[in-house]
Amino acid sequence: MDVSSVFFTNMRCHFGDSLLNKLDRLMTQTGIEKIDFKSKFCAIKIHFGEPGNLAFLRPNFAKTVADRIKKLGGLPFLTDCGTLYVGRRTHALAHLEAAFENGFHPLAAGCQILIADGLKGSDDVEVPVPTGVVVKSAMIGRAIMDADIVVSLNHFKGHELTGFGGAIKNLGMGSGSRIGKMIMHNDGKPSVEKKKCLGCQTCAKFCAQSAITFQDKKALIDHAKCVGCGRCLGSCNYHAISIAWDSSNSSLNYKMAEYALAVVQGRPNFHINVINHVSPYCDCHQENDAAVVPDLGIYASYDPVALDLACIEAVNQAAPLTGSILAERGKDQADHFTNIHPTTNWRDQIDHAVKIGLGRNKYKLIEVK
Ligand code: SF4
Ligand code: SF4
Repeated sequence: MDVSSVFFTNMRCHFGDSLLNKLDRLMTQTGIEKIDFKSKFCAIKIHFGEPGNLAFLRPNFAKTVADRIKKLGGLPFLTDCGTLYVGRRTHALAHLEAAFENGFHPLAAGCQILIADGLKGSDDVEVPVPTGVVVKSAMIGRAIMDADIVVSLNHFKGHELTGFGGAIKNLGMGSGSRIGKMIMHNDGKPSVEKKKCLGCQTCAKFCAQSAITFQDKKALIDHAKCVGCGRCLGSCNYHAISIAWDSSNSSLNYKMAEYALAVVQGRPNFHINVINHVSPYCDCHQENDAAVVPDLGIYASYDPVALDLACIEAVNQAAPLTGSILAERGKDQADHFTNIHPTTNWRDQIDHAVKIGLGRNKYKLIEVK
């Protein structure tokens, strides 16, 4: 039976040591130096956190990873792609400001920061997914695809649509450009909210399909012409254009796993999950809510699926924290993620990732002191 190795270290720390030293030892003992980093660009895929959220990973973790890669001769950079929804990370300028505000400036992070899909989320690369079941190609932020090596550094937590958020989600959803995220979230087309539209006509200039016309000085999208590229969403400074978030959660999990495969296939990749402040929701929210279980440790593997599964099982074995949403809702203590988000099914994400060859659902745990 094929089994992947997942290395972990707990959150205990003795005098003279530090959690960052432990992270460095974890990377080394997992075998990160087997990757030839010499003079290679290495994308460290991370989520900088929506301003207001305090559960996202501290930049100190990123610096430790970047420093190790630099010691191995690599050229690391921290990266993420823009978001679809209204927030502080919809275009590169706002995204960089949000990252800086959360402490991710080059001095603190130990390397430069690039928004992978460009100013307005349209700088992407179409990547074939040969084993894809629901997508045959993925639209991935260019800087991520231009890198020679991908390392994902993931805050492990709950998620309102996908059950949990770990390596697969950070790689898959997080690396999708605007159109990529639209494809993952929605099988349909965007619409204009008339009340917010000022009739400035900017969106129409960005639409290569001439799908946007105007009635009573309000934009109107012709869904017969629209190809769902998402360019108009990024062009509207007034957040008047949005998509219906109606793709089923299972479909979203499948697409996300296929996007993650597009990111890692054919090049060296390495993954780290930090199980601390396990918030019930994504770090995309400006609020993070109380942690649902205690901080459990840092996990690393070459296999993003085995890594996520090991973290799911570690969280599910932990006692709910008093005062958390899990303590309020924890009817079936065996599955914390489903207790928190009953309409989600995290197994879809893992099972599909295994089916398409992203990784394995069998692992052995190896502790690093
Ligand atoms: S860019 Fe936005 S505000 Fe301007 S016309 Fe289009 S939808 Fe309306
Ligand atoms: S999604 Fe693309 S094709 Fe559709 S209206 Fe917007 S810019 Fe035009």
